[in-house]
Amino acid sequence: MMPFEKCPVCGGELEEKKVEKLLRGGSHIAVLRVHAEVCLHCGERLYAEDTVRFFEQIRNKLRRQELSDFQPMGQSFTLDENSPNKANEADVRTSRG
Ligand SMILES: [Zn+2]
Repeated sequence: MMPFEKCPVCGGELEEKKVEKLLRGGSHIAVLRVHAEVCLHCGERLYAEDTVRFFEQIRNKLRRQELSDFQPMGQSFTLDENSPNKANEADVRTSRG
């Protein structure tokens, strides 16, 4: 049973959905697919207590580099804050050929 019947933020209807949750621990990131109650109005996600505890375990494992349970998903990348503009310019150039 979820602790909420309505969204605690806006009072909207909740619907159970599978969502992708990104967890960070140290320099590692794990993406999990979990059930959450998602507000149909504002998009707020509510997780069951067990799920929140599970997130905490995952974060701790990532922090401690206990990675044997995880499957690699490809590399993670980041950009500095100026790069999105540069990347867009490059896209425009390539799309024009
Ligand atoms: Zn809401």
